[in-house]
Amino acid sequence: MAKIFCVANQKGGVGKTTTTVNLAAGLAKVGQRVLMIDLDPQGNATMGSGVDKRQLEMTVYDVLLESASVAEARVRSDKCGYDVLGANRELAGAEVELVDVERREKRLKLALAEVDSQYDFVLIDCPPSLSMLTLNGLCCAHGVIVPMQCEYFALEGLTDLVNTIKQVHANLNKDLQIIGLLRVMFDPRITLQQQVSDQLKEHFADKVFNTVIPRNVRLAEAPSYGLPGVVFDPSSRGAQAFITFAEEMVDRIKAM
Ligand code: ADP
Ligand code: MG
Repeated sequence: MAKIFCVANQKGGVGKTTTTVNLAAGLAKVGQRVLMIDLDPQGNATMGSGVDKRQLEMTVYDVLLESASVAEARVRSDKCGYDVLGANRELAGAEVELVDVERREKRLKLALAEVDSQYDFVLIDCPPSLSMLTLNGLCCAHGVIVPMQCEYFALEGLTDLVNTIKQVHANLNKDLQIIGLLRVMFDPRITLQQQVSDQLKEHFADKVFNTVIPRNVRLAEAPSYGLPGVVFDPSSRGAQAFITFAEEMVDRIKAM
């Protein structure tokens, strides 16, 4: 059975997409079968996995509207070693088109059931909002991975997300939990970041992943080559950190 994780944080630019594609590539590297789902109409995770969003015949949009199955709409990224259920601008329309349909928040969950046995991990890159799209992700997930920068307002933004997750847990998906907070773009030379990191550990204890992702320019350069950093420059510090994170995730699901 596949373990399904949403990478979510309603803030933009916090490293969700970078985390999703690099964790996917890291998991593939350590022998896991991975499906990466792009739930953001910007399609950055699709492009960042070497899949041209403009060329896609079918996307996650078709899956949400039940005009395609996951098996029909997914494509293989050979370079990255995982499957991609891509997204493009069309997905922005799904929000409105799903308003009047039944079980609208469960569409993705139902569709994923059909490919469940084919993967060890399904990773979902969420848009920077707590929208119907994010809700579809949260409804099918076992856990949420929350990437965060160790900045002054980081904890404040977390409250809304934690409340949403609690509500989804109570009303729609009993399996859902925050599996962990991932410290990203970390620069240990900045005292404030060190302090916020310590605070996170105090508040959230073992919900904070051991792995810390450093700020690393190779991770930022990789998307312009249509690759996750883990594939683009495997020996870079950023890539190494994501491979360590992939190993940590493999360990964590053993305990789930
Ligand atoms: P989100 O998906 O949350 O909007 P992204 O993953 O797109 O965030 O990251 C925002 C920007 O920060 C991108 O330009 C990305 O390349 C850069 N970035 C993300 N993580 C790192 C990192 N660890 N080191 C350096 N740059 C990073
Ligand atoms: Mg993104």
